[in-house]
Amino acid sequence: METKTSLASPFVVPVFLPHAGCPHRCVFCNQRSTTGQEESLPSVNAVRRTIREFLAHRKERTRRTEISFYGGNFLGLSPELISLLLATATAFVQSGEADGIRFSTRPDTIDAPRMKLIARFPVTTVELGVQSMNDAVLRQSQRGHTAQAVREAVALLRRRPYALGLQMMVGLPGDAPATALATARQIADLGPDFVRIYPTLVLRGSLLASQHARGEYEPLTLEAAVALVADIYQIFHRHDIAVARMGLQAGPELAPDADLVAGPFHPAFGEMVQSALWLDAISRHLEKEGLQGGEVVLEAPARLLSQIKGQKDFNLLDLLQRHQLRSLEVQANPALAEDTLRINGQTCSRW
Ligand code: SF4
Repeated sequence: METKTSLASPFVVPVFLPHAGCPHRCVFCNQRSTTGQEESLPSVNAVRRTIREFLAHRKERTRRTEISFYGGNFLGLSPELISLLLATATAFVQSGEADGIRFSTRPDTIDAPRMKLIARFPVTTVELGVQSMNDAVLRQSQRGHTAQAVREAVALLRRRPYALGLQMMVGLPGDAPATALATARQIADLGPDFVRIYPTLVLRGSLLASQHARGEYEPLTLEAAVALVADIYQIFHRHDIAVARMGLQAGPELAPDADLVAGPFHPAFGEMVQSALWLDAISRHLEKEGLQGGEVVLEAPARLLSQIKGQKDFNLLDLLQRHQLRSLEVQANPALAEDTLRINGQTCSRW
């Protein structure tokens, strides 16, 4: 299933600009935590150095390389700074060391003058932090823009050939599974090239941490977040939209010990979602084929075995119990195609 995502995923050279260009702090955000950097804009020399150092770690020049400005609201910077940073990255594209530039920005920074400004540079991908398509949730999250701003931004961006990524969050203040699912459906209707799905975490130093301390906000449990993101994943899958990431990455994006106050963080969050999807598919197959109470042999490519078994064999234990199986064996089968599973000799599809 990840084929489309992995084929599309470029080698990314990250340049973190924590809170750069942000008009204010959104309630859940503490980019010092999520990027591991203190807030201050690096000098052009520092940006150049970061890019050079990162490119030096690239082993082969087989994947498309994009220089990426992350961690703030890129188009919220002054036009002079935007031009300076883009010109710095452009030099690497012109020398052939990179293929393009990407950045993440707020929907309300996409307007005609800024579109004209970035058109002078080899920008290839734009990511919008959408977070929710529900205005009440956006208000409670103190985003400072509406769902309509997202629609208008996407319409403007689609006039250019940029790859478009939309990020959404689950478990925001005022959010509920139904509103998160509605957000996913509306995002899918906007037709992005890829999405990222993040569960809301309570990060030290964020406004949400104060609300949580006062008992005004409760994050999703890990179990609920995994189940909800699995449902959302299916919506994007049905629309053939690649899911580039689920959950924050430990290390470069988050130091769980230092920064996490509460919330559904797990270093293998994406893997847990994939496992939940397999559990659901296998369970449906067992029911459909009337295999309850029987002996079951699952065959899968070695790459999928850990997803199919689940964390600490959670899926296997659940299947054994739920379907009262006499035995359940899992075998690696190198002859099976990517993402294919066989149950007692029959093909099982995840969708
Ligand atoms: S979520 Fe984005 S726009 Fe909001 S404060 Fe964080 S970096 Fe800035």
